[in-house]
Amino acid sequence: MRIVTRGRFAPSPTGVLHVGNLRTAIAAYIGARAVGGDFVVRIEDLDRANSTVEHEQSQIHDLRALGMEFDPAIIRQSERFAVYDEVIADLTARGLTYECFCSRREIREAASAPNGALPDGAYPGTCRDLSAAEKRERVRAGRPPAIRLRTNAESYELVDAIRGVYRGTVDDVVLRRNDGVPAYNVAVVVDDAWQDVTQVVRGDDLLSSTPRQIHLQRLLGHASPEYAHVPLVLGADGERLAKRHGAVTLADLTALGESVQVVRDELLTSLGLPTGPLDEVARRFDWSQIDKSPWTIPLRWQTRG
Ligand code: GLU
Repeated sequence: MRIVTRGRFAPSPTGVLHVGNLRTAIAAYIGARAVGGDFVVRIEDLDRANSTVEHEQSQIHDLRALGMEFDPAIIRQSERFAVYDEVIADLTARGLTYECFCSRREIREAASAPNGALPDGAYPGTCRDLSAAEKRERVRAGRPPAIRLRTNAESYELVDAIRGVYRGTVDDVVLRRNDGVPAYNVAVVVDDAWQDVTQVVRGDDLLSSTPRQIHLQRLLGHASPEYAHVPLVLGADGERLAKRHGAVTLADLTALGESVQVVRDELLTSLGLPTGPLDEVARRFDWSQIDKSPWTIPLRWQTRG
């Protein structure tokens, strides 16, 4: 039987989770538990150069320390490249992909030219219709191609549980990078569907990627989950939270003398929620409670100790 709601938290193990990540994880956990759903953690370690097992373990440790319960059988994206490759091969067989030889710089320059319906920074389609001779020339120049999805500026509207109505246009998103690594958007769509995830709660820096993911879900025949994008956490200077802003990880805060419960309660309060064990807070939860503005970390955390 299909579980009614399944939420997830999908960190990339490229560093220790900071309080912004922990706050998003809390929102994801409570969102799922509030409707009696379950919750999975997935390790998004596509970036082999920067992902480590130590970071993975510290992330799992911190989530459990805050009181989250989840299945210890955690999937890692690094073990699923063959699955993503198969999906990319399927889209290619359907004529929905093309090879792209552009460098980052070429894309940046071309994307700054006005390009009609496409969103800011969207790929302008330079390699969409290369002739066989043009392709041969680029291959001869030694550039390995990335694989992109062939789209037609499709536009999708979603109703985000926090942000409300959001509409975005799709561009020719990368499916496989030119170093052979499957792209985030493919892996996330494939895995959310495979894991029966029905509720995606994450940082609102990913809101603009959501229409791309909805487009891929449609192409692959997957239902779309519900979405909730949590506002960012800022440092004292109004910039997105980073290490330099002070005590920003659970370990930093513990070293400052904050208990895990105090950190948990501070993060709950920052979300607009009552304090206490997460499963108890979940019992009285409604998305309308969540604070919609970015949150600045408390003064006493703005120190390196
Ligand atoms: N792995 C992504 C990150 O850590 C999150 C992806 C998602 O939640 O869809 O930023």
